[in-house]
Amino acid sequence: MSADVTKLLKKIEADDVQFIRLQFTDVPGMPKNAAIPVAQAEKSLTDGTWFDGSSIEGFTRIEESDMLLKADPASYALLPWRPQEGKVARFMCDVYTYGNKPFEGDPRYVLKKVLADAAKMGYTYNTGPELEFFLFNLVDGKPTTQFADQGCYFDLAPMDKAEDVRREIVLSLKSMGLEIEMSHHEVAASQHEIDFKYADALTTADRVMTYKFAAKAIALRHGLHASFMAKPIAGINGSGMHTHGSLAKNGKNAFYDANAKDGLSDTALYYIGGLLKHAKAITRVANPTINSYKRLVPGYEAPCYISWSTTNRSAQIRIPAARGNSTRAEFRSPDPMCNPYLTFACLLAAGLDGIKNKIMPPDPTNTNIYHLSAKERKKMKIDMLPGSLAESQAELVKDKVICEALGPHILETLATIAEAETDAFRLAVHPWELDRYLATY
Ligand code: ADP
Ligand code: MG
Ligand code: MG
Ligand code: MG
Ligand code: MG
Repeated sequence: MSADVTKLLKKIEADDVQFIRLQFTDVPGMPKNAAIPVAQAEKSLTDGTWFDGSSIEGFTRIEESDMLLKADPASYALLPWRPQEGKVARFMCDVYTYGNKPFEGDPRYVLKKVLADAAKMGYTYNTGPELEFFLFNLVDGKPTTQFADQGCYFDLAPMDKAEDVRREIVLSLKSMGLEIEMSHHEVAASQHEIDFKYADALTTADRVMTYKFAAKAIALRHGLHASFMAKPIAGINGSGMHTHGSLAKNGKNAFYDANAKDGLSDTALYYIGGLLKHAKAITRVANPTINSYKRLVPGYEAPCYISWSTTNRSAQIRIPAARGNSTRAEFRSPDPMCNPYLTFACLLAAGLDGIKNKIMPPDPTNTNIYHLSAKERKKMKIDMLPGSLAESQAELVKDKVICEALGPHILETLATIAEAETDAFRLAVHPWELDRYLATY
């Protein structure tokens, strides 16, 4: 037994842990886990734990279904909402195949691969996502779109009935190692946001999974449903996952250059150039469902044009005013339905392509893009994001850089999912169609 495993087993015993959840993520971004009793911990931490991967969405075919979960020791955390006597701990795991090779369909592996490319160039990639979600009432145990509160942006209790729930989520996340920077009521009734401090992209993606999982578990205990659906209600703000990103080299923020225009280094500009170039393909991953595209419409805070800005929030990429170590690019189109590992992998691959090929972005658009006419946008070469899942899927397969980052296994799965979803939606008769046509025709 290695010294690290011995140390971890001691910690597990001191924490009075009874069960260990081995957690991983499927291709659509759903958390999955298997629980083992603590007596199995030593074996699992040394050799891994075998499981049947054939029923996991996007994982594998029956003939190669035996898979191995290897716990990442750094991800050890106690689940604070589970019983406090005989506790439950969890590890984020890497998935391996029969021949002890990393599994190409494991989203965590895909991100690790692109992070290794960045490391070869001397970069660490940091991300800080802002996840928004709704708290809806559960009725007869089923989620509804009934608001749990009528508060709005930055409201205080007693307007904000969900404050206690949010507080409990924040305290739980804190105990699981997330440094909470701010939590607040969002613009729509029952909509909330909790921001946590940025870290390297792998840690952050694990934390996104923890955040969603904790919010859902705690909301449920209060008779509520925490929904990360991008646009649950037409006509009301959707939920985004703005993702702040920066690269560091030798411990220093590589986007900052005190002597450059706007304080932005060439590295920052090329990174932005890469993101803009690959924005359409990234959309397939950052906005992964039919519903995601109902958020990317004019009139709210979500972007629909491919652009960047140093001043305004109608652009897809915003450069927040802070400089020095806080110099970063905020990519505003992702929504919290996305798989964070794959989304960060695509963003980084795009940024690195920009840096390798010195892709200089056009000048920033510092006017409100929603106020520009189609003609003005055309003159400024401002293109639109894909308008549907089918469109973004078509953009993805055309983009070599993003395809290479995702790898053939994930690409095949994404194509299958996009086709199935698009077909199912086309076959459905939508309530809008009945409202529009039934009485008139
Ligand atoms: P907004 O103004 O869009 O609401 P915030 O100022 O609240 O955004 O910042 C959101 C996120 O940006 C946080 O998660 C924060 O930790 C992260 N962030 C700050 N500095 C960096 C950086 N250098 N690299 C990546 N993320 C960062
Ligand atoms: Mg925010
Ligand atoms: Mg917000
Ligand atoms: Mg903020
Ligand atoms: Mg933001």
